[in-house]
Amino acid sequence: MDLREFPLEVLVDVLKYLSPINLFFISYTCQFFYKLLLNEQEIWKFSRKNHMVCRKLNPPLNMKERDYLKLLLGYRCYNRCYERNTMIYWEVNIRLCSYCYTNSTCTRDEMCKRFTEKLWLKEIGINKSELPFYDNDFPYPWNLIPFHYLGGNRYFKAQILVVKQILSRELKTKKERIEWIEENSGEKIRKQQEEIINRQREDFEYLKFINKKIFNY
Ligand SMILES: [Zn+2]
Repeated sequence: MDLREFPLEVLVDVLKYLSPINLFFISYTCQFFYKLLLNEQEIWKFSRKNHMVCRKLNPPLNMKERDYLKLLLGYRCYNRCYERNTMIYWEVNIRLCSYCYTNSTCTRDEMCKRFTEKLWLKEIGINKSELPFYDNDFPYPWNLIPFHYLGGNRYFKAQILVVKQILSRELKTKKERIEWIEENSGEKIRKQQEEIINRQREDFEYLKFINKKIFNY
């Protein structure tokens, strides 16, 4: 009997006991398994909880379990530079080597030289007095995205550009832009930053677990 003739519930029940790595192998064997595993995200979730005890956190918002596991288990830099010494940057949910990370990010000082207060206000077409302030800070684009801490705060340039695009092109009215700034600053950024720290902590625990398994220390 062909595996594909099994009732779906039975197949799901069998597959979910495989490790995430084996699920990836199976999903690449034929279109049937590829599609089945793409649709049944619960299989991946069950497999992760069963085989990767150190990975308790669920995927980031809008990320599928399968993509989450690919990110966790991968090792190559997403910039296709073939560097294998990488880490996950949860601010943007990708894996980068240290060289590509430095190239993709910038410091607050570097950004301040390009976005002066006057330029930024002109770009978004809002008067200073109309803007909400958070922690006495001005809502510059980098205050509307999470940062990565590595001997100082670093911001992903791509995220800054997205904020810039939304506020200067996509949102047409001043009211919409002010609302967007209110929604995307303050408490929301604090929560995102907290989530990132939790994920980094889990990465660290996972590395410790792997080292213990391989080197027994
Ligand atoms: Zn790289």
